[in-house]
Amino acid sequence: MYDFTYQRASSQDEAISNYKNADDARYLAGGMTLIPVLKLRLDKPSDLIDLGDLEDLEGISEDNGNIVIKAMTNHHTVNYSDLVKKHIPALATLAGTIGDPMVRNRGTIGGSLANNDPAASYPSAVLALNATITTNMNNIEADDFFKGMFETALEEGELIKSVSFPIPEQAGYQHFPNPASRYPIVGAFVAKTGGSVRVGVTGAGPCAYRQSEFEEAWSDGNMDPERIKDIKISPEGLNSDIHASAEYRAHLVNVMARRAIA
Ligand SMILES: Cc1cc2nc3c(=O)[nH]c(=O)nc-3n(C[C@H](O)[C@H](O)[C@H](O)COP(=O)(O)OP(=O)(O)OC[C@H]3O[C@@H](n4cnc5c(N)ncnc54)[C@H](O)[C@@H]3O)c2cc1C
Repeated sequence: MYDFTYQRASSQDEAISNYKNADDARYLAGGMTLIPVLKLRLDKPSDLIDLGDLEDLEGISEDNGNIVIKAMTNHHTVNYSDLVKKHIPALATLAGTIGDPMVRNRGTIGGSLANNDPAASYPSAVLALNATITTNMNNIEADDFFKGMFETALEEGELIKSVSFPIPEQAGYQHFPNPASRYPIVGAFVAKTGGSVRVGVTGAGPCAYRQSEFEEAWSDGNMDPERIKDIKISPEGLNSDIHASAEYRAHLVNVMARRAIA
């Protein structure tokens, strides 16, 4: 690990202004990605601005037909939230599949979305549920947020404050976990929401995306898994690594989407 200056912010304004005043700062949430990255010397920030004391960035509420999850809310809290379990049980299920108990108690929804790992679980839900990401600067629609591998629409120093998930009529999530890390090799989140069907896929490509062929097949609202059974997903552009080939991932996209519905 290279040397850096550690700062523990006592308010959101302080965190944002300290970020601006530093040479090359990073926000620190639960450190579940950032600390290993620093240990491996893959990044060399001048300052770490710890958000851990910002209680106003934690919590889950219901607001006008949305479940609003603040950025520093950890995965365990989402998994056990009565509000999430009541209104979007698939999202609670998803949070409970992330990593292991330590990761779920430290990792946060804001950190996960800002990091945008190609295999992160939440992006599939954000896309399928048509969520909105609120920052100190903008409200960013799900379809505009994920730009590429580890790339988002966030600007330098932009702080995620919360994520609003419109309560869907129906939703389901399934993933095929890597047996070592528990990250999805492929995960699919399917939701009937706001009068349409949306399918978010993670793990398969460089960045989470919507599977338009499945959305079209279910566009009349009848989400019969049989309707997509014969749709072949092209492996072109999908990830291929020691865990799974692009062809295998393409196959899993269809299987996970059908299991999510079932
Ligand atoms: C062993 C292991 C298994 C895992 N398995 C899974 C899995 O199955 N599925 C899954 O989805 N994830 C998995 N993860 C990732 C984990 O769930 C965390 O969500 C992820 O690592 C982000 O961690 P964090 O919230 O602690 O953020 P940090 O590591 O603290 O930060 C990550 C990045 O986000 C930025 N950031 C943090 N908060 C904000 C904010 N509010 N606004 C703007 N930028 C911010 C930081 O500057 C940094 O660049 C796993 C991690 C580990 C170590």
